[in-house]
Amino acid sequence: MAILIHKYFPKQHYSTLFNTKTGFFLRKEDPGFSSPYWSECGPELLDISITRWCDRGCPRCYRESNTAGKHMSIQDYRYILDQVKKMPVNQIALGGGNPNQHPDFSKILQVTRQEYGIVPSYTSNGRGLTQEVLESSKKYCGAVAISAYPPYEDLTNAIQKLTSIGIKTNIHFVLDKESILTAISWLKEPPAFLIKVNAMIFLNFKPLGRFEKKIGLLKESDQLKTFFAETQNPHPYKIGFDSCCVSGLVSYTKTSPLFFDGCDAGRFSMFISEDMKAFPCSFMMNTHQGYDLKNHNIIDAWKDGNEFKVIRNRKWDNKCNNCLKKQICLGGCPSWNSINLC
Ligand code: SF4
Ligand code: SF4
Repeated sequence: MAILIHKYFPKQHYSTLFNTKTGFFLRKEDPGFSSPYWSECGPELLDISITRWCDRGCPRCYRESNTAGKHMSIQDYRYILDQVKKMPVNQIALGGGNPNQHPDFSKILQVTRQEYGIVPSYTSNGRGLTQEVLESSKKYCGAVAISAYPPYEDLTNAIQKLTSIGIKTNIHFVLDKESILTAISWLKEPPAFLIKVNAMIFLNFKPLGRFEKKIGLLKESDQLKTFFAETQNPHPYKIGFDSCCVSGLVSYTKTSPLFFDGCDAGRFSMFISEDMKAFPCSFMMNTHQGYDLKNHNIIDAWKDGNEFKVIRNRKWDNKCNNCLKKQICLGGCPSWNSINLC
């Protein structure tokens, strides 16, 4: 059953509306006021890595997850939820590692939705979708995303398992200089296994982790124009992007800015690692220290953590200062200029 959650933030003169069934989210400023640059009361979206455990070894894994990876304890997870229940958080994206292979995964989904009223979703490598995991996903999750890494056997099996019981299934596709060719061919002629998916979400590859130097960046591709043009055509599934693609959207498409926003790391979203450190975004784990949540509160990290303040007060280079798209794009990625597509 859909529940509409309305929240009002009088100090910043705006409100949010969230539909728990469809995932529709709207942020609306009061008449006469401008849209907020960041949410002073805390993040709207939490991205939590509940484990670094994974047995697939995907080459594009920025976390370099493996079977030595540690799990977040359920006590730590509850400790986070206890703090965020007074914040604007409506959704939690669970990641890893492979989150659904956390030993307490079903409990984590149940606690998030039933006890705290927050809608969980997760991204899986497609393995470990047991009957128990599928049942709790159906009961508690907004959507499940499967990473599209070759060979695509795990992906096809997972899509079949999830869609056959009516779970909203999205695909996360990491775009780089090589994989963009597969993306274009899937957009032109969708393989049969994709027909039942809800959305294809494209993610801009970051030069971090396992194959940091062996994979070419997306912006090195000479196929960007073709790719973005293809995304504008009708498809059997919806098309989405991570905010790390925003410089490409503003450069290569005429998509209305009503449908996207610049990077919201540290403005509306926060990442928490399995060892309880807070970062503006998950990719900063490899390069930044993070804010220790074992000894500090989440709201203090959000408001006063140095990495959060730095990312909010991002400095723009001359190229961005002189760019007509800057109010929509917000300078692309504030952390890795090298991934910007303009
Ligand atoms: S120049 Fe800066 S603001 Fe303009 S599209 Fe590129 S990253 Fe975005
Ligand atoms: S800081 Fe960069 S990598 Fe992180 S979410 Fe923003 S655009 Fe993406």
